[in-house]
Amino acid sequence: YTGKTGSQLFTERLKKLFVKDFQSIPVVVNESASVYDAIVTMFLEDVGTLFVVDKDSHLIGVLSRKDLLRASMGKQDLETIPVNIIMTRMPNITTCKPDDLLIDVANTLINKQIDALPVVLKIADESNEKYEVIGRITKTNITKAFVHIANEMH
Ligand code: ADP
Repeated sequence: YTGKTGSQLFTERLKKLFVKDFQSIPVVVNESASVYDAIVTMFLEDVGTLFVVDKDSHLIGVLSRKDLLRASMGKQDLETIPVNIIMTRMPNITTCKPDDLLIDVANTLINKQIDALPVVLKIADESNEKYEVIGRITKTNITKAFVHIANEMH
């Protein structure tokens, strides 16, 4: 018997869970998509955050539900507004990597007050920072990890 408390065991287990084991599939839109297209995609794909990519599939932006609501409040035709004028753009995007600890991502989501992070791989042989989006981590994935540990310990 180790003499460890339940919360010590929980914390030890939590510090061994990685992004790659809990990430979801990313939903992306092209930078030339309209705000209207993005709203339709968000509904059909049932996600709260979209990632915006350029023609080479490199990450250039993030769109949240409220970004799209804000853009919809004006009188302008939503089919004529490109997402790339309303998105949060690089280099202001917070990302994570497949080998990051889930607990670190959870802290980032809380500290930055955002719902999701793109899981990215840095593209090699580029002087400037370019990223390929390979996943998505949201508060739902963090909740699933929490329940996963509880089920292991029952
Ligand atoms: P909502 O705006 O629907 O409440 P969020 O809290 O996730 O959803 O987003 C708040 C703001 O932060 C939005 O303007 C969004 O574009 C931006 N944002 C969301 N995710 C990220 C991220 N990973 N990195 C940087 N900015 C982000």
